[in-house]
Amino acid sequence: MNKTCARCQKVVYPIEELKCLDKTWHKTCFKCTECGMTLNMKTYKGYNKLPYCEAHIPKAKATVIADTPELKRIAENTKIQSNVKYHEDFEKSKGKFTQVADDPETLRIKQNTKIISNIAYHGDLEKKAAMEKQREAAEIADVRDLTEKIYQISL
Ligand SMILES: [Zn+2]
Ligand SMILES: [Zn+2]
Repeated sequence: MNKTCARCQKVVYPIEELKCLDKTWHKTCFKCTECGMTLNMKTYKGYNKLPYCEAHIPKAKATVIADTPELKRIAENTKIQSNVKYHEDFEKSKGKFTQVADDPETLRIKQNTKIISNIAYHGDLEKKAAMEKQREAAEIADVRDLTEKIYQISL
């Protein structure tokens, strides 16, 4: 049984036969799949078992190479860098948020919290004095309750 040309489907005689890409072609039928430029064994570029000229070989290399460990590594690094970038942005926006939060009202609350914290810290010392001064002790207890509430809110 005679072989048939992969392009024109006509019989290929040995004299005009060109074996390439697991197929048989007429030498004259071995052309670029895209532009029809006549190719030979030296000039053709095979892709998907079809011949292409240099200019029209499908640029699928990126996809193919993307499966190599090296490319995967790079892709992974890019992802990590993206995460880093994301965190950078997050830190920046956090900085902005802090600035926004530093309005007079917030500052006042912060200041009060600091004062209350100090009072709470010194509370133990003052407790001794408070033994002698019941009224003062009651005040400190109030402050401590308030401090606890503020801590709970900020948690
Ligand atoms: Zn042919
Ligand atoms: Zn071409």
